[in-house]
Amino acid sequence: MDSHLQTAIELAVRNVAEGGGPFGAIVVTANGAVYEGVNRVTRDNDPTAHGEVTAIRDACRGEGTFSLHGATLYTSCEPCPLCLSAALWARIERVVYAADRHDAARAGFDDAEFYEAFATPREEWKMAVTRETPADLGAPFDAWNAKSDRTEY
Ligand SMILES: [Zn+2]
Repeated sequence: MDSHLQTAIELAVRNVAEGGGPFGAIVVTANGAVYEGVNRVTRDNDPTAHGEVTAIRDACRGEGTFSLHGATLYTSCEPCPLCLSAALWARIERVVYAADRHDAARAGFDDAEFYEAFATPREEWKMAVTRETPADLGAPFDAWNAKSDRTEY
């Protein structure tokens, strides 16, 4: 097994002993720098502090960039929709995981349930997601498109 994946699993196990969730992740950047992340949801009262997200945040902070183009994300468990989207936004090139969403479900986590939600019409979701159409709904994008010195991402 890839040693980075092994490290991610070890981070996850250690994180349980330290009061966090059973998830660990490693980002290896295109230039070979290694960053670690563990689940900090309950410790930080941050529902978005998943292992993959904390590893991506640490890597971006360490590299001074918002793009991890060419990086690989190793994670102890299949990324949930949040983390998979974070990897997409971070322009990660490759994701390698060990346990899957069904293993996570057996441990009481909602990864598989959320994947199923994304595969069903939003009208059937427990969480209401509705659209309203105020007259100025296009103003933020108009401002963005009019700003010639914007930083694209
Ligand atoms: Zn996640």
